[in-house]
Amino acid sequence: MTSSQHMLRQLGDLVGEKHLLTERDDKAWYTKGFRVGRGEALAVVVPQTLLQLWQILQICCASDAIVLMQAANTGVTGGSTPDGNDYDREVVIVSTRRLKGVQVIDQGHQVIAFPGATLTELENILAPLGREPHSVIGSSCIGASVIGGICNNSGGSLIRRGPAFTEKSLFARLHNDGRLEMVNHLGIDLGETPEEMLKRLEQQNYTTGDRPDWAGKIWADDYASQLRDTAADSPSRFNGDRRYLHESAGSAGKVVVFAVRLPTFEASPQTRTFYIGSDDEQQLVALRRMLLAEMQALPIQAEYIHRNAFDLTVRYSKHMMLAIGKLGPQALPGLMAKKARWDVRVSHLPFYRETVWTDCYNSLIRLRRVRLRLASSPIAINLNII
Ligand SMILES: Cc1cc2nc3c(=O)[nH]c(=O)nc-3n(C[C@H](O)[C@H](O)[C@H](O)COP(=O)(O)OP(=O)(O)OC[C@H]3O[C@@H](n4cnc5c(N)ncnc54)[C@H](O)[C@@H]3O)c2cc1C
Repeated sequence: MTSSQHMLRQLGDLVGEKHLLTERDDKAWYTKGFRVGRGEALAVVVPQTLLQLWQILQICCASDAIVLMQAANTGVTGGSTPDGNDYDREVVIVSTRRLKGVQVIDQGHQVIAFPGATLTELENILAPLGREPHSVIGSSCIGASVIGGICNNSGGSLIRRGPAFTEKSLFARLHNDGRLEMVNHLGIDLGETPEEMLKRLEQQNYTTGDRPDWAGKIWADDYASQLRDTAADSPSRFNGDRRYLHESAGSAGKVVVFAVRLPTFEASPQTRTFYIGSDDEQQLVALRRMLLAEMQALPIQAEYIHRNAFDLTVRYSKHMMLAIGKLGPQALPGLMAKKARWDVRVSHLPFYRETVWTDCYNSLIRLRRVRLRLASSPIAINLNII
């Protein structure tokens, strides 16, 4: 038996054969990114508990396999999928989608989120408490996970709250000498061994005041003031900003995150959305400067949406709008996964040729095109250009 077969057997024994995907069709959804990234993986493994996630890491590290962490696979960086097929070792994708869990602590002022918890779930849990999460989804990436956002420093449109960021997390890292280490920087005493930590965390068997808090921020509380400095000659928002890279935050898959500790925010009772259009970008630049420098309370969120994005939305996203309206954003990841499986099945049909189907689809769209009045279309609300 080769070492890859041995690893697969161990992984299958751990999570059950149903949750170890090795067939090309079954892996298809996980090996192709939402926007970028596509490649091959030996297997996709879908753990159900944090302890299984830890054991998967142990197995993969012992076999010297590459571990690619994947949450909802909506990331725009290609970080959660393989890129090509020329890796020098086996690639195992670990999907966190079954690792659900949000624990509300500190009278609703903070939460601990597990790897599979989505922003929509967090939003729904906090709504009855009059609180909301850092990111209220309503943008390009419906179904995204809380931890995926932390790993990506996402939230480019959030003005008051800045990029998704925390210095308090529970994560595993691999040392150069091959030693796998669990690091508890949640600011909560969970015991000494990884197994004990994960068991106590999952059972919520801890008190937050037990141990002096791990001195660390739980959000980018300095971000708004940086934005206000419109005269600065440095950019205020860019990927890989060192100010927001800390252990799990901005790690983009370089460590494995088991849980993050985050603040919640008072829900805004009344919000209004304004659409401002211009053909002259200088007008928008001036407007942005004015808003940042002169408004006493900053807007919650702002997006630039190019005309092309409106056109694309009208052409391709009506079904998405209907699905979100009728089923809610939480249904999206499941629907997308089903679509991916359907796409694979259809691609096996003997008479299938992608271009033929695309041409048919486009003709149908052209026939049925309805002229929407874009400015008042609710489609636009869900667009977020990063
Ligand atoms: C700079 C930036 C700004 C963005 N701003 C916005 C925005 O304003 N609005 C919006 O809707 N979207 C935004 N996005 C996109 C958003 O980041 C992604 O849609 C979302 O964060 C991905 O979540 P996901 O659950 O799909 O994670 P995935 O796409 O599955 O994973 C994202 C990354 O996190 C890693 N990862 C996931 N889980 C774990 C884990 N448990 N341990 C270790 N690594 C893990 C993956 O390896 C990958 O590198 C932004 C992205 C970037 C890079």
